[in-house]
Amino acid sequence: MAPMAVTPPTEVEKTSDLTLNGIQAALKKAAPSQNPPTTLTPSLTQPTGTTKPSSSPPLPELDASLLQCTYADPSQLKPVLALDDPERQTQRVSTDHMIQAAWSTTKGWSAPTLTPYGPLSLMPSASCLHYATECFEGMKLYRGFDGKLRLFRPTLNCNRMLMSSTRIALPGFPPAELLKLILKLCATDGNRWLPPHQPGQFLYIRPTMIATDAAIGVQRPSEALLFIILTVLPPMDSVPGGVKLLASEDDMCRAWPGGFGYAKVGANYGPSLVAQGEARARGFDQILWLFGPEGVVTEAGASNFFVVWKEKETGKLQLVTNSLDRQIILDGITRRSVLDLARERLASTSSSSFNLEPLEIQERPFTMSEIALAAEENRLVEAFASGTAWFVAPVSKIQWKGKDIEVPMGEDGVMGGYTKAFKGWLRGIMYGEESERGNEWGVVVGDE
Ligand SMILES: *Cc1c(COP(=O)(O)O)cnc(C)c1O
Repeated sequence: MAPMAVTPPTEVEKTSDLTLNGIQAALKKAAPSQNPPTTLTPSLTQPTGTTKPSSSPPLPELDASLLQCTYADPSQLKPVLALDDPERQTQRVSTDHMIQAAWSTTKGWSAPTLTPYGPLSLMPSASCLHYATECFEGMKLYRGFDGKLRLFRPTLNCNRMLMSSTRIALPGFPPAELLKLILKLCATDGNRWLPPHQPGQFLYIRPTMIATDAAIGVQRPSEALLFIILTVLPPMDSVPGGVKLLASEDDMCRAWPGGFGYAKVGANYGPSLVAQGEARARGFDQILWLFGPEGVVTEAGASNFFVVWKEKETGKLQLVTNSLDRQIILDGITRRSVLDLARERLASTSSSSFNLEPLEIQERPFTMSEIALAAEENRLVEAFASGTAWFVAPVSKIQWKGKDIEVPMGEDGVMGGYTKAFKGWLRGIMYGEESERGNEWGVVVGDE
């Protein structure tokens, strides 16, 4: 295995709460050397009294250095889709290889493998097919304008994956090993699928973990499979006319306190698709998920949601997004990065150097009524959704209780000034055009 250029995590990433607090706790509680691992939240089905005495030898950890590679025969490599190939829109195309690693309570993590992309083999009784013992991540591999392949703050994704997996009784693992595996897959397929002469393109990275126990009992899984694939995803950030959101109705919500809305687990998504399908059928792009009788604004589809408005009393401009403390929204890495950049570049008068008025930044629960009132009083400035897939997408309309709220889309009618600034800054970092933050948030993939 060729050496990989992995930039060590920076101080900023090490001290962020998605990383240290949760991760160390999660690792301690869920490392495969504990058999069975203790859950973060004890459940009724958790067996008791079966924990092995601590004298038993520790089970193998996930270890990227043990990776065994079997490459696809050059004659079997798939054709790389042209940029205008309509198949790009289907989201069905994966690259040539995948990585897998199996885990069990008795053997710990086995040596990971890199193999040609292909179907998995599972028993019909596999736990994930019945009890949604599945979690995933969503990241992108960017072909920079400087020719380099980059990931964006991938340490945070790997840490979040650990949070998600331990929330649903899947095994723990060292996030740094997951990152090494992701980098290896990116280095293997990145060059062919993101040719250097086509900068500004990306692939979507989908690390996934599933419980594979062939046992129908409702219990903590004793076998799991981690896999990583790379897929072709069309850009979704330039919806013509802006993103149109349909606010969820009182009879449905995405997440609730004490639930698992903060984890990227499959169980959050399947049940949301009826509402999403209805929104699409009615000409909207996504559901704006509200929570509770007050209509607290949580997320837009599988993206975080931001609004910029003028505060009623002070007349000051505010950037507002829901807070993480009730655990009903996902701790998005794009959300986090928008907030970081806003605090750094727009929170004081220094923002005048960007031709933008300073913003007050607020992470707090806010309601649909507040948005409606701001719109009515001409205080609503702009709104956008943020996430890896949608990137930073301007919102132009929200329908709530049968009424349309028009959201301003800036002077050019394409997007507001703040949306444009966040998008531009992040893009610069992701595609290697900004070194100030780029060196810290971008992780360069070593070409093989
Ligand atoms: C993935 C996801 C997001 C966005 O998170 P990023 O890390 O920014 O990609 C937001 N909300 C939900 C529900 C998600 O699944």
